[in-house]
Amino acid sequence: MSDCFILLSAGKSKRFKSKLNKQFLSYKNKPLFEHSLKTALDSKLFKKILIVSNKKVSYKNIDVIKGGKERHNSTQNALNFLKNKKIKNVFIHDAARPNLSINLLKKLKKELKNNNAVVPYLKSENSVKYKIKNKINNLDRNKVLLTQTPQCFNFQELFNLYKSNKEKITDEASLYLRNNRKIKFILGDKKNFKITTIEDLNYLKSETYFGIGFDVHRLIKNKKLFLGGVKIPFHSGLKGHSDGDVILHSIIDGLLGAMRKSDIGTLFPSNLNRFKNIRSKNMLEPVLKFLKNNNFSINNIDINLICENPKVSKIRNKIIKSLSNLLSINKNLINLKGKTVEKLGIIGKEQAIACEVICSVSK
Ligand code: ZN
Repeated sequence: MSDCFILLSAGKSKRFKSKLNKQFLSYKNKPLFEHSLKTALDSKLFKKILIVSNKKVSYKNIDVIKGGKERHNSTQNALNFLKNKKIKNVFIHDAARPNLSINLLKKLKKELKNNNAVVPYLKSENSVKYKIKNKINNLDRNKVLLTQTPQCFNFQELFNLYKSNKEKITDEASLYLRNNRKIKFILGDKKNFKITTIEDLNYLKSETYFGIGFDVHRLIKNKKLFLGGVKIPFHSGLKGHSDGDVILHSIIDGLLGAMRKSDIGTLFPSNLNRFKNIRSKNMLEPVLKFLKNNNFSINNIDINLICENPKVSKIRNKIIKSLSNLLSINKNLINLKGKTVEKLGIIGKEQAIACEVICSVSK
């Protein structure tokens, strides 16, 4: 007698605005359903794994059968398939819950020693109301159990209940309750949440990227010095096609790098006259627009300003305030460090200023 993991992957994804069934949409470089499949395999708790799917998939040593019209039809197909296969317990799991943990599987397995039905649940964190006709009523949220999967059952008992059931059910726990059977509810896992809409998937998919930026400009007399969009009183200014703002140029390259969008030179070719004497804060605009239009957000920016003078400690707050305004991000997401070069080279002789930056963004 052994345990079987049943992966329900035949749902029609009615609330999903995609032509492809959600179980097959890619999440972390593989179809959604493969995540719980891997967890079940890695747990080594199951002699048998059964996938219920309407799309053709094949894996070594794993049975695949066709699903039914509704979820309970799919479960019925799975139970019929497992009949006479000496199964002790079944773990029935929704493929739309990709973050199943081995820890939860082990907890469920342990409880099955003394129970015929074990179901994970979460407490409701929201206040709950329910409606009867037109009247909205309060429900004590401490009495609410939000059930998750895998829902685990003694195979024979579940098989018999299913056999006599004629009604549509949304999960196996409701079939048990309808028949006044006892279920052991154990606390589930918040991370094991169900992906119901495309927004849920996008939320899960949010990924972090990093970009690096570097710039150096020569200092010349009779030019104003701009750093991080701030005019700084100094004996020289930075030579360049634009105002030579090394901080903003490095940030632009860092952001473009994180978004995998080539570099500042591609965006503003220096042989084009219309970019001549451009203020660097105007160069930031198209980058921020791309950031916004492609749902990127800045996590943080770390800056090394490399020069003997001006002293960074004296201009730090002004620059961070300016960058916070220009980038529309909180000041505490920006860090500015000063770095001298022991008076070495042209930077040491105050003939140039360099800057390096790391930007982190999420999509
Ligand atoms: Zn530059």
